[in-house]
Amino acid sequence: MSTEAEFRHEVRQFLESLPALLAGTDDPLKRARLYLGARFDAGLGALDYPTEHGGRDLPRDLVMAYRQESSGRAPAEAGFGIGISMCLPTIRDHGSNELKERFLRPGLRGDEIWCQLYSEPGAGSDLAGLATRAARDGDEWIINGQKVWTSGAAEADMGILLARTDSSVPKHRGISMLVLPMDQPGVEVRPLRQMTGVSHFNEVFIEDARIPTSWVVGTEGDGWRLAVTLLAYERSSLGAGGGRQPISTGRLIDLARERSVNMDPVVRQDLARLHSQALIVGWLNQRSGIHPSVTKLWRSRQGRLASSIACRLAFPGGAAWDEGAEGEGWAYGVLDSPAHSLGGGTDEIQRNTLGERVLGLPREPAVDRDIPFSEVRRN
Ligand SMILES: Cc1cc2nc3c(=O)[nH]c(=O)nc-3n(C[C@H](O)[C@H](O)[C@H](O)COP(=O)(O)OP(=O)(O)OC[C@H]3O[C@@H](n4cnc5c(N)ncnc54)[C@H](O)[C@@H]3O)c2cc1C
Repeated sequence: MSTEAEFRHEVRQFLESLPALLAGTDDPLKRARLYLGARFDAGLGALDYPTEHGGRDLPRDLVMAYRQESSGRAPAEAGFGIGISMCLPTIRDHGSNELKERFLRPGLRGDEIWCQLYSEPGAGSDLAGLATRAARDGDEWIINGQKVWTSGAAEADMGILLARTDSSVPKHRGISMLVLPMDQPGVEVRPLRQMTGVSHFNEVFIEDARIPTSWVVGTEGDGWRLAVTLLAYERSSLGAGGGRQPISTGRLIDLARERSVNMDPVVRQDLARLHSQALIVGWLNQRSGIHPSVTKLWRSRQGRLASSIACRLAFPGGAAWDEGAEGEGWAYGVLDSPAHSLGGGTDEIQRNTLGERVLGLPREPAVDRDIPFSEVRRN
């Protein structure tokens, strides 16, 4: 195994090759695809994956070293983040050999895009109340139901799907995790326009869609445990700075200068608080064993604070901001900021999780936890 210094040298050499590779490609998805393909082929795309699946089996500190070296020098993973940070690690840890063989390499190379088919109109925070059904028919599962808020579904090749395979048992026990090929007649994706003006997430209507019976992740009926595993990957990735980005402190300092308020003590205090929060998020991510809800909460706090500072700095002119290009305009950053507290589970749910699982507080009362799902009263 290489030493950390040797590994960092290898990473830097790879990163130096990127500007030439990406020259002339502006589309974020195409840039991400080029980068991921080159990264995988250079042996840097599966650092903490077993060697038999094209990985390097490297320890956490070297994975962190890659993250540090590549920060600001590699393109964002764009639409590939859900696969790379959430679905593929879950398949790596719990999938059958067939699933690992079929999905890990193309997903990590950026050949296939994934989406996460969890939330439904009647099941968001109460995810275990989901009603999409999977029924066996010979050597296939037949899927019927509706998902919503599915980020990236319009571009996705594969979806990690939670579906109910047994309604005769309590709600947490009758769920299975399956892999749904999105490009088939029974899957209809309808984009939802968000208040930022873009359509990142979608409704997904599923009618008699088909999945091979062996494409269950883990075992039938064990989907809730795997759903929680994947959510932990999602929250760690969001907490570590994956997904949407808060308005940066640097941009806000420029805005304060532009408005000639950069010497105002209250403004300086706000900016210092934001800077401190960014440092705290970075430090939390260097610690191992920290509960992912902690970093996710800090990150969403940082996103909301940045947005509120931007609004105060611009007052009263902020109302005249136009939407701006995605990720660039001030209005985009402000309107996108509530999403930090919602995607991957709301702030309230993170606090409930920390209360119950970390602090050992009593569980929330629930009337439907122990009765068969088929007997639960629903709207
Ligand atoms: C940007 C973005 C991207 C998303 N991407 C995806 C995706 O790719 N795939 C996917 O499956 N889903 C996705 N979601 C959905 C997201 O997971 C849900 O919006 C979230 O879990 C909340 O569910 P809900 O919207 O149904 O709200 P609800 O569950 O109806 O909650 C409404 C309010 O009640 C509060 N609340 C609910 N229950 C409790 C409780 N027990 N204790 C205290 N407060 C409670 C919530 O905190 C919230 O404030 C995305 C959402 C956003 C905003």
